[in-house]
Amino acid sequence: HTQETLLEVNNIEVIYNHVILVLKGVSLTVPKGGITALLGGNGAGKTTTLKAISNLLASERGEVTKGSITYRGDSVADLNPADLVKRGVIQVMEGRHCFEHLTVEENLLTGAYTRREGKGAIARDLEMVYDYFPRLKERRKSQAGYTSGGEQQMVAIGRALMSRPETILLDEPSMGLAPQLVEEIFTIVRDLNEKEGVSFLLAEQNTNVALRFAHYGYILESGRVVMDGPATELRENPDVKEFYLGMS
Ligand code: ATP
Repeated sequence: HTQETLLEVNNIEVIYNHVILVLKGVSLTVPKGGITALLGGNGAGKTTTLKAISNLLASERGEVTKGSITYRGDSVADLNPADLVKRGVIQVMEGRHCFEHLTVEENLLTGAYTRREGKGAIARDLEMVYDYFPRLKERRKSQAGYTSGGEQQMVAIGRALMSRPETILLDEPSMGLAPQLVEEIFTIVRDLNEKEGVSFLLAEQNTNVALRFAHYGYILESGRVVMDGPATELRENPDVKEFYLGMS
């Protein structure tokens, strides 16, 4: 029995500044209920792929010049990020991007802005976020700009959860964090996947940790998918071991 497909990226090309070809025909699929990892080194095109999906390339003079991107079978090419959130897809950008002058709790509440339900539902979801991130509950009254890098990453994910997404596009959650915090954040991602049913497309340079938590992986090199497969198979693949896991 095959899994339902949520996101389908089909052979996309992305060009920056009209001349710089950065994605050279990338295809990938995100199934419902999965954690899908997009792997590759610095500059391979991971962030560009996520931004292509959520239509964030225009402000960087980038555009999708070939291929298609669909969510539940419908093209997302003309959706702005707010429309995409209404369809159930939200991106957590690299570098966290908290509102530094707002408190942790105020940051989380900004994530519920597209919702039409009453205060009760939003309050319940805030408690749900605090259940997954007890640290954020402790820090709820703190100004976000004064919390640690790990806490800001949690705020960014927590804020995304407040929109009740079906799919989260998560860009480089491990960036700049100590190994123990990386472990903590990935464990929460897995819990959210298993208990809340949130699907993830996760861009990561840290192949090692990503392949332990993801179900399926795609490896990008210079704007092309050079390998893909179930995470358990990629972990055992000799090339992946040699070039990405550093344990040949
Ligand atoms: P990182 O881990 O650094 O985010 P990445 O795999 O996400 O790496 P991208 O950020 O998607 O890679 O970048 C892919 C390529 O596109 C790089 O060569 C980068 O220099 C180039 N690039 C990114 N943004 C722009 C831009 N606005 N204009 C021109 N080139 C860009």
